[in-house]
Amino acid sequence: MVFWADKIVNEIEKKLSKTIMQKAPLLVRDEKTLSGRVHIGSMRGVAIHGIVNDVLNERGISSEFQYELNDFDAMDDIPSYLDKNEYEKYLGVQLYKIPSPDGSAENFAEYFGREFVQVIKDAGFDARFYRLSEVYKSGKMDEAIEKAILNKDKIREIYKRVSGSEKPEDWLPVQVVCQNCGKISTTKAISFDGKEVTYVCKEDQVKWAKGCGHKGKTSPFKGGASLPWKVEWAAKFYALGVDVEGAGKDHSTKGGARDVANAIAKEVYGIKPPFDIPYEFFLVGGAKMSSSKGRGSSAKEISEMLPKEIFRTLLLAKRPMQTIDFNPEGDTIPNLFDLHDSLAEDYWSSVESDTVILFGLIYKNNPPEKMFLPRFSTVAYLVQMPHVSLVEEFEKIKEDKLTEAEKYELQKRVKYAQSWLEKYAPEKYIFKIRQNLPNISLTDIQKSALGELLKFIENNKSYTGEQMHAKLHEIKKESGIDPREFFSAIYRIILDKDSGPKAGWFLSVLDRDFLINRLKEAIK
Ligand SMILES: [Zn+2]
Repeated sequence: MVFWADKIVNEIEKKLSKTIMQKAPLLVRDEKTLSGRVHIGSMRGVAIHGIVNDVLNERGISSEFQYELNDFDAMDDIPSYLDKNEYEKYLGVQLYKIPSPDGSAENFAEYFGREFVQVIKDAGFDARFYRLSEVYKSGKMDEAIEKAILNKDKIREIYKRVSGSEKPEDWLPVQVVCQNCGKISTTKAISFDGKEVTYVCKEDQVKWAKGCGHKGKTSPFKGGASLPWKVEWAAKFYALGVDVEGAGKDHSTKGGARDVANAIAKEVYGIKPPFDIPYEFFLVGGAKMSSSKGRGSSAKEISEMLPKEIFRTLLLAKRPMQTIDFNPEGDTIPNLFDLHDSLAEDYWSSVESDTVILFGLIYKNNPPEKMFLPRFSTVAYLVQMPHVSLVEEFEKIKEDKLTEAEKYELQKRVKYAQSWLEKYAPEKYIFKIRQNLPNISLTDIQKSALGELLKFIENNKSYTGEQMHAKLHEIKKESGIDPREFFSAIYRIILDKDSGPKAGWFLSVLDRDFLINRLKEAIK
């Protein structure tokens, strides 16, 4: 199989062959509106564009990944974690003009932008960041704005034909900033004289913000106005010269925003729309959670749950049209570590496949030397056992000493496992050794089987997981106890749960004296 990013770049080479010969570098673009804490879903676009850009460059096709921090849109909703009373007055005002929460950043957009930019950088994706306010203010959008206003009828017709949405006949595709109250969402453009837009700031232009009633005339250029977003999308393709730009599934439906933008790009701006890469959602716990909702779904929070290489595995392993479902409260995290480790095995044994390429990209073509990787779920289990040396336990599993690199890897996984157990891990991964014998009643046959187990432990100073496993089977057979009853007795007296990790191994890592005392107490 061809790795997904290679497949996409193959197509880009075919479709953009002429551009590739004439233009250097190509522009690969993606963006995020900074209306609050950025949801992890936005990392999907970053990863797809970032990797496609890397693969282009690896093939000697000069290309640059530019990431837009959209600070020019207006605030249209107040995130739930901010004070409604404090921000209500900014509804309808552009994000770069709103003060930063806690005053630590230059403005509202920068506050959330810097956190997201750090996540992108820490995850190892290389992008050149720019702000949309700078693009508008520089005059780079002016020609596109003028063309949009002059082609208002054509744009109206495109909206209707492509997406079925009707705009009033007097509609102008431009929105100016009110010179009186500073809001942008509340204004309605009335006419354009070639230089200035006459507008009125209406009380009821939108439901969520109130205009001031001011009537005026102002220039739409150099940051004085913005375009409606589907028109703006096409205008960016045109003004910036975008060659490759994907979009999430929500925008990629037939008649959706991308179709409208593409039609405007072709028919109004006379350009070929960028090469598209439609991609599926990134769900958190099965839901397409919005960034205003909170716990466990922001890019920062999720990136902090995982070491860099596992975060990149999460972002890169699936093809763009596969949904990513990340559930920190389920099996996702242990499964991701397992996936990473199996990719590593393939890579180190040089199995020729797309997984080898994927593993290389996860490590930005600088993968670690072959080593023993401690399984995450085992680490997560062992860190909960008191008095257990993880190094010793993994040396038993490896059947050899751990190298320095392996010890370092183990330490790293211990840190992530502890934090996962503390904050998110589901009940089935939590094994809390009970300090005292839980309040349970055992049957006679359970007591007698546990008595046999006690004898074995008393008679042996040490035992491996396998020896313990064999002994448990022997006891089971000789006593005739129902296996479920036997194992649940073991887990009950130690964990106060009906199930747990593999019993032989579980018992072998518990402190021997503790185990003797607990068994004695339980069969009394
Ligand atoms: Zn106003």
